[in-house]
Amino acid sequence: MITDEFIKSIQSESVIIKRDEPMYLHTSFRIGGNAECFCEVRSIDALRNVVSACKGFGVPYFVIGLGSNLLVSDEGIGGVVIKLGGDFDEVEVTDNNTLRCGAGISLAGVCICAKNNNLGGMEFAWGIPGSMGGAVYMNAGAYGGEMKDIVVSSRYLDGDGNIREISGEEHKFSYRNSFYTDKDCIILDVTLKLNPKNKNEIFYLMQDTMERRKAKQPLNRPSAGSVFKRPEGYYAAALIEQCGLKGLSVGDAQVSEKHSGFIVNNGSASAKDVLELIEKVKNVVREKTGVELQCEIKYIG
Ligand SMILES: Cc1cc2nc3c(=O)[nH]c(=O)nc-3n(C[C@H](O)[C@H](O)[C@H](O)COP(=O)(O)OP(=O)(O)OC[C@H]3O[C@@H](n4cnc5c(N)ncnc54)[C@H](O)[C@@H]3O)c2cc1C
Repeated sequence: MITDEFIKSIQSESVIIKRDEPMYLHTSFRIGGNAECFCEVRSIDALRNVVSACKGFGVPYFVIGLGSNLLVSDEGIGGVVIKLGGDFDEVEVTDNNTLRCGAGISLAGVCICAKNNNLGGMEFAWGIPGSMGGAVYMNAGAYGGEMKDIVVSSRYLDGDGNIREISGEEHKFSYRNSFYTDKDCIILDVTLKLNPKNKNEIFYLMQDTMERRKAKQPLNRPSAGSVFKRPEGYYAAALIEQCGLKGLSVGDAQVSEKHSGFIVNNGSASAKDVLELIEKVKNVVREKTGVELQCEIKYIG
């Protein structure tokens, strides 16, 4: 329960607080009930204070990036949803072809900065609609590249309010998984090692990546990208299509006609519709192929 006393304790010019904020405004699925308290936190000190207040008052908190891998419950989220902004939206080129990125900045912003500075290695991420924090948390990847290839270190705030740093190796990156998965840690910033490359060549690769996305993915409909992880030895989309599930719908949630690995929101899909559709898909795929699909998207609330 959020009290006025709690709100007072987190108030500062570096925290924008919204009560009962609709989460569909903060997810690429455009689905989700209200967050009891939504805080855009704009500095490390303010973040430390919000986390410490949550602990002190026994208020649960959850950090989001750009909400592009999330399905938020229709009932919303109790406690505090933290989104990083302000200082966390910055990126700077440091020496040795290295970029230091705040965890809140979009991957698109980092890709553009890398290109403008003739630094290659980020092209794979062009078109992934997430933040730097979300991408490291998920080890986001596409077209042969992944965050694992470029992260040299990151700093995070642990549950006790300490700032810690880990090296690239310590991230223990694996498929859509990292050191941060399911941990009570908030990624603050990330250092990437890129390589010198001509900006025209980078631009061409970025364009090529986007064309491939546009050709294959239903980018004209709200979604959270691929719903399922790639099962060992298979492609989730191919299994779903092979089982005749392309186009299957529950309410306004539909297995995309263009890419069977995506579920799209055709207008007013609820989280309940999406969950029901996911269950149907998992059940049929299990019965027909023996493969157990696992969700890549995170359900919260
Ligand atoms: C059209 C479309 C295409 C996509 N294509 C791809 C693709 O090609 N490859 C791919 O890998 N993904 C893809 N995705 C999925 C998604 O964009 C990625 O998983 C992305 O990395 C999620 O980042 P986010 O900032 O949106 O995180 P969110 O969805 O907001 O959060 C994801 C997880 O990260 C955690 N998190 C976020 N920020 C922080 C932080 N600062 N500290 C600690 N934890 C944090 C959240 O708690 C949550 O558990 C796609 C999605 C869409 C909609």
